[in-house]
Amino acid sequence: MSLLVIGSVAFDAIETPFGKTEKIIGGAATYISLSSSYFTKNTNLVAVVGEDFPQNKIDLLKSRGINTDGLQIKKGEKSFFWSGRYHNDMNSRDTLITELNVLENFDPILPESYQECEFLMLGNLTPATQKTVIDRLKERPRLVVMDTMNFWMEIAMDDLRETLKVVDVLTINDEEARQLSEEYSLVRAARKIMAMGPSFLIIKKGEHGALLFHQNEVFFAPALPLEEVFDPTGAGDTFAGGFIGYLASTEDVSFENMKRAIIYGSVMASFCVEKFGTERLESLTNEEIQARAKEFMKLSQVELEMI
Ligand code: AMP
Repeated sequence: MSLLVIGSVAFDAIETPFGKTEKIIGGAATYISLSSSYFTKNTNLVAVVGEDFPQNKIDLLKSRGINTDGLQIKKGEKSFFWSGRYHNDMNSRDTLITELNVLENFDPILPESYQECEFLMLGNLTPATQKTVIDRLKERPRLVVMDTMNFWMEIAMDDLRETLKVVDVLTINDEEARQLSEEYSLVRAARKIMAMGPSFLIIKKGEHGALLFHQNEVFFAPALPLEEVFDPTGAGDTFAGGFIGYLASTEDVSFENMKRAIIYGSVMASFCVEKFGTERLESLTNEEIQARAKEFMKLSQVELEMI
């Protein structure tokens, strides 16, 4: 089994009510692959950065066992840069700056050794680039998971609709689900979005957990109430990395197993928000992950007597 991850690898500048960062590393694929690396040692990254991207951060990814053969470094160009400011509730944010830079003309070249991927995670990128990756794989992976955001709904809706037709799972947040479906009720929104292509839909609700939809079924995973939330940036990507990493490691893409996978996704996201940027994800231990998974189990387990 192997996992292919594509998405942005970037610089971010973040403002939260607790502080502000200079340019730090971020990007959807950075968070996804760091997170999935705790579940599978077979994560293959496809992304692009500029010459300004620090080598020690690429080494960090490698030290987590992530294959960076598919990471292009463009001489004389600048990495993707994103800046955001969180509101006081930390559940919503404004994008202040999006500089596509190297992403503007990104041609996702897949090393031959990546061809056998069974699990594909299409992290946040232009929907057209996401689709190119599927087209360039000689065999369709067993499971294709896609993440996207409002930015692409606003500037690339037609491409987004085309890509949606060929994926199995879509992960988006509640606001984006409403925007994409033009429905307020998330149940109706889910039905409409699944009719666009993906047979599974995950709606992320930040500190209020995540919903997994499939046909007429729905499953809810809570988020852990945390004492310290410093920076929610990357929580959605970290969630996706834990989700697909767990599925890849168990090689089971059933709805039942996806329920477990969204709990592991939530476990990983709960670590991500505890520090700025990727810091908390850089050196977790299996013991920490298992201990938190147990906290999740305790959080909503209850025996009910029928009245
Ligand atoms: P999340 O908080 O999970 O939505 O992801 C935040 C990450 O997404 C940041 O590290 C950004 O670098 C990255 N990001 C923000 N906007 C975009 C975009 N338009 N395309 C690709 N990546 C983006």
